[in-house]
Amino acid sequence: MTDQVVDLLVIGGGPAGLGAVRAYREEGGKGRVVVLSADPDSPYDRPPLTKDFLRGDKPEDELGLLEEGELASLEVTWAHDRAVAVDTAAKRVDTRDGSGFTYTSLVFATGSNPVDLPVPGGDESSLLRLRTLEDGRRLKQAVAGAKTVAVIGSGFIGCEAASSLRRLGLDVVLVTSDYAPQEARLGEDAAARIAGWLTGDGIRLVTDATVTALESTGAGFTVRIEGKDDVSADQVLVAAGVRPATELAAAAGLELEDGRIVVDSHMRASADGVFAAGDVAYALNTTAARHLSVEHWFDAEVMGKIAGRTAAGSQDAEWTDPPGFWSQIGDRWLKHAAWGDGYLEALFEEGDGEAFTVWYEDENGTCVGVLTHLADENYDKAFDLLS
Ligand SMILES: Cc1cc2nc3c(=O)[nH]c(=O)nc-3n(C[C@H](O)[C@H](O)[C@H](O)COP(=O)(O)OP(=O)(O)OC[C@H]3O[C@@H](n4cnc5c(N)ncnc54)[C@H](O)[C@@H]3O)c2cc1C
Repeated sequence: MTDQVVDLLVIGGGPAGLGAVRAYREEGGKGRVVVLSADPDSPYDRPPLTKDFLRGDKPEDELGLLEEGELASLEVTWAHDRAVAVDTAAKRVDTRDGSGFTYTSLVFATGSNPVDLPVPGGDESSLLRLRTLEDGRRLKQAVAGAKTVAVIGSGFIGCEAASSLRRLGLDVVLVTSDYAPQEARLGEDAAARIAGWLTGDGIRLVTDATVTALESTGAGFTVRIEGKDDVSADQVLVAAGVRPATELAAAAGLELEDGRIVVDSHMRASADGVFAAGDVAYALNTTAARHLSVEHWFDAEVMGKIAGRTAAGSQDAEWTDPPGFWSQIGDRWLKHAAWGDGYLEALFEEGDGEAFTVWYEDENGTCVGVLTHLADENYDKAFDLLS
């Protein structure tokens, strides 16, 4: 079959991919634009999958990201197909369904995939994971008939999902290798607050826990933990982190670092006409003056837009903003803005009532991040300091 010739080819239909095609057109990018998306669903909002969608407060038909008629007006072809090989010298991409494309510009926006626990039973298909809308549907269906759920992992996805599942009336056990949820990332005081929220909501925390095996019992699961009592649950949600989807990029010979595709501040990768954006990119942020690994929704969209604008010919689209995200644990919101590559000190500041702020500083006493709860003025202040 002869190749289809496209001006902009995007692999991945998350916020980075969608941001790229929208910005390409806004910038005046001409010609044929195709998105290859391995996800069978049309583009949707991922963050609600642990929050209001899981709790049943947001129906599926409110998750869509496309406006009515948008693909037609952007003149974008959205193909539910998987890219399986990229040849950057020939500027060619092959897909699972047998199509071949030659491109002028190519954007890798392949995102991340959840990792399995590297223990016996860790790859069992009846364990629940949460990345896609289909995962979200499956989780809701699985817990509808359950009484107990074990959530493994206390990153934001684990904490948010545990909280939402508890709201649904389930007995929830959160099993984590951390001493307190997200202690390494956010510091002791913030971790203690989050632990207090979770236990206050009736979630049982099993901390400092090394899971050694996940066993399906037929009726449910047994989580085996080194030196601690087993945890039994009707369902197990594994939220043990994600790995950027770089297999294609690696096979194509693109430069990788920190498990991601290295790009400059315009999102240009190491091959001519190739860009990367979102979770899969290790991108230069000009304000930070270094490359950053970021796994946030808004930043993925921002990076995608920069890639799209640059592909359309812009010279001045660059990544300058500090990365950040908001998280909802039960009814409580946390706002985080940080370069995300470490800090020396976490300075905890009590606010009025429940409010608090954590200021993160490097070895020179320079602000490198902030975490706030009910303290928006400090969030804004830190954002200004970082910018
Ligand atoms: C449940 C959940 C809740 C979250 N909540 C928040 C939040 O509150 N705030 C926040 O900032 N972030 C949140 N995140 C993280 C955020 O969703 C990600 O950082 C963001 O989706 C990254 O966007 P992306 O476009 O880089 O990748 P993705 O959104 O992962 O999209 C990548 C797409 O590429 C497709 N793809 C991969 N390989 C191929 C291939 N070979 N061919 C074709 N298509 C391919 C995938 O199918 C996928 O659709 C959450 C994530 C999850 C899973």
